[in-house]
Amino acid sequence: MEHEAKGLGIVIRTENARESDRVCTIFSPSLGLIRAMSYGARKSVKSIKAPLYTEGTFSLEKSIRSGRWSIRDIDVIATHGYLSEDLERNMAAALFSDLVITSRTADSSLYKLYTDAIDLLEEADVEKVAIAFIVHFLSEEGMSGDYISCPVCQRPYRDDEILGFSSIEGVPVCSECDTMGSSLILPPNARRYVRRTLELDMDNAVLLSVSDLQRHRIFRYFLRLLRLSFPGKLRSIESGIWNTDKEVL
Ligand SMILES: [Zn+2]
Repeated sequence: MEHEAKGLGIVIRTENARESDRVCTIFSPSLGLIRAMSYGARKSVKSIKAPLYTEGTFSLEKSIRSGRWSIRDIDVIATHGYLSEDLERNMAAALFSDLVITSRTADSSLYKLYTDAIDLLEEADVEKVAIAFIVHFLSEEGMSGDYISCPVCQRPYRDDEILGFSSIEGVPVCSECDTMGSSLILPPNARRYVRRTLELDMDNAVLLSVSDLQRHRIFRYFLRLLRLSFPGKLRSIESGIWNTDKEVL
């Protein structure tokens, strides 16, 4: 067993531990998802600080006694400090982290998706970034169709078709395969936007034009969809500013 590790990564969650320590969840395409202690992170000036969303090359060491990883050094690439200055951008980043941690996926394509989304949150529209991340994430996890044909019965969607949702498969489906009594629907124009988003990379997806109202509806649609697909797992949605409790599920 190796007791030292080094690799590119980003801190995607921090939790306070006893005294002034902090537990950082680091997402690294080469090391995976690692929980590492940042000792004295909350007080000592000399300690290695690893604020949330710090990206860089992390040097980690594992204690033989406790078996815990700790952060020894970081060669910082970016701190993404703007995320702490805006509640909605911060919540979007927290949602992306929730999804990565829940899926337990840590491959390089998800890493690119995640860091592209975090970078885009500096200036792009928050809801557009969130929609693009969620659409690509669900596709990579095999949790969505292609929005061209129904993933359950394979029938191509009609141009004017309103998609429903299958609570059994956990994916958007054609009207016949819908199990939700049309309570979670994706109308034709919204579906076209989502399909285009999936065809483009993150940088280009956020440049697609869409009305504010349409964009907001699609965003709320995906928040509700995620609550159904990951029940009880996404604190950013369940307890945050985007509470969907008042909306019909
Ligand atoms: Zn179908």
